Amino acid sequence: MTDYDYDLFVIGAGSGGVRASRMAAGHGARVAVAEERYLGGTCVNVGCVPKKLLVCASAFADHYREAAGFGWEAEQPAFDWARLIANKNREIERLNGIYRGLLDGAGVELFEGRARLIDPHSVEIEAEDGGRRRVTVDQVLVAVGSWPELPAIPGIEHAISSNEAFYLERLPQRFAVVGGGYIGVEFAGIFAGLGCDVTLIYRGPLFLRGFDEEIRTHLAEEMRSRGIDLRFDSRVESIEERAGAGDDRLRLHLDSGDAVDCGHVLYATGRRPLVAELGLGDCGVAQGELGEILVDEYSRSNVPNIWAIGDVTDRLNLTPVAIHEAMCLSRTLYGGEPTPVDHETVATAVFSQPPLAAVGLTEEEARARYDEVDVYRSRFRPLKLTLTDNQERTLVKLIVDRVSGRVLGAHMLGADAPEIIQGLAVAVKMGATKDDFDAAMAIHPTSAEEFVTLR
Ligand code: NDP
Repeated sequence: MTDYDYDLFVIGAGSGGVRASRMAAGHGARVAVAEERYLGGTCVNVGCVPKKLLVCASAFADHYREAAGFGWEAEQPAFDWARLIANKNREIERLNGIYRGLLDGAGVELFEGRARLIDPHSVEIEAEDGGRRRVTVDQVLVAVGSWPELPAIPGIEHAISSNEAFYLERLPQRFAVVGGGYIGVEFAGIFAGLGCDVTLIYRGPLFLRGFDEEIRTHLAEEMRSRGIDLRFDSRVESIEERAGAGDDRLRLHLDSGDAVDCGHVLYATGRRPLVAELGLGDCGVAQGELGEILVDEYSRSNVPNIWAIGDVTDRLNLTPVAIHEAMCLSRTLYGGEPTPVDHETVATAVFSQPPLAAVGLTEEEARARYDEVDVYRSRFRPLKLTLTDNQERTLVKLIVDRVSGRVLGAHMLGADAPEIIQGLAVAVKMGATKDDFDAAMAIHPTSAEEFVTLR
């Protein structure tokens, strides 16, 4: 296609980078991708996939507890963290191999090393052994993702991020989590399910800012009823390491004057674009306050042949969104079909316990944007729990524009919420009305049927 060594050079073989490489190659482009760390990026290695495996592991605590109500008697089962992590690591290695195979199969050349832009059309790759190679490129795609950001407080060097949480040698009795976003809430549930005493510390009045308030409030109640100590409106001022304190080797000093003792403290206080030493400044690529690459609706930066997708653009930092951006980009660049990305009505889930999932507007957002909003909700005890002593309640909620009847948002907190909301996301994205929901026959008895029987 061009006189350059490659038509497209992708920096970062995570979810977005791999999908863009494969699709571009499928359109006939000569593609190379550079990866300095691990194939599959955060999602596969230290994100969505291992996280979900740990969530599944911790959910067994509930299954064992509930079994007695169904007539099953068993001794208290023992849990082996080291075995779980070894099995999880094996699965991740398998996935790394699959990603390598996918790139190979698509004819994408893989450079294992750190890539840096020398100018908009030259990239230098430094391999682990220090060897350097320069290549010329027509188009560049930056898909390097993001990295945990920890605040600079005294003692922060004793904290871990989610990266390390996946590789702990053993679980301490007491675990503290700082941050009230996806990662903090998910890990609090994981460690509590696996038997740790968990304290979650969040600086605001209620965690999961941005999700529907009633759902967040309900989740806080459920987490508290599972014994998780939620400390809202609380800040950690310093972390003290205490020699000789055994398992509780860390003491967190809070702004309230309270102290929280724990064996590990996980900071989940957000992630920042991973842009250091990429050579973006030398190429004149415009960046935002956090270093994110500023792009237009086609994921193009201000330098016409440099594009960026995924977390490095800090738009909507979710794996499926990065993949969508990758598909739009390859259509735009090589499919002859300029395709803007669509960030509207994106379904999402927090794999808390119980899990939460949502698509569309929250009640608060809908009331701010529409004159007349109807809210339908149902709070109920799922059938599966009726024979157990688990008092957990499921909450489902539909937000409807009274004028058009259109369903603006669907929210659920309870078992299988991510699986159920994924299906509803199709209807909400298509613009379904409350009447459309009502016209769908219920599948009985399920929790999902509540969505089509709301009055
Ligand atoms: P989030 O941005 O979701 O949450 C960060 C949390 O830390 C917020 O509660 C924030 O508070 C708080 N915080 C930020 N700075 C400080 C500080 N200096 N001191 C104390 N608290 C602070 O980040 P996460 O780390 O949880 O997740 C990172 C990204 O990963 C997210 O963008 C998410 O999209 C993605 N992700 C998605 C998952 C999924 O789809 N299930 C799972 C895990 C991660 P405040 O609300 O007040 O700003």
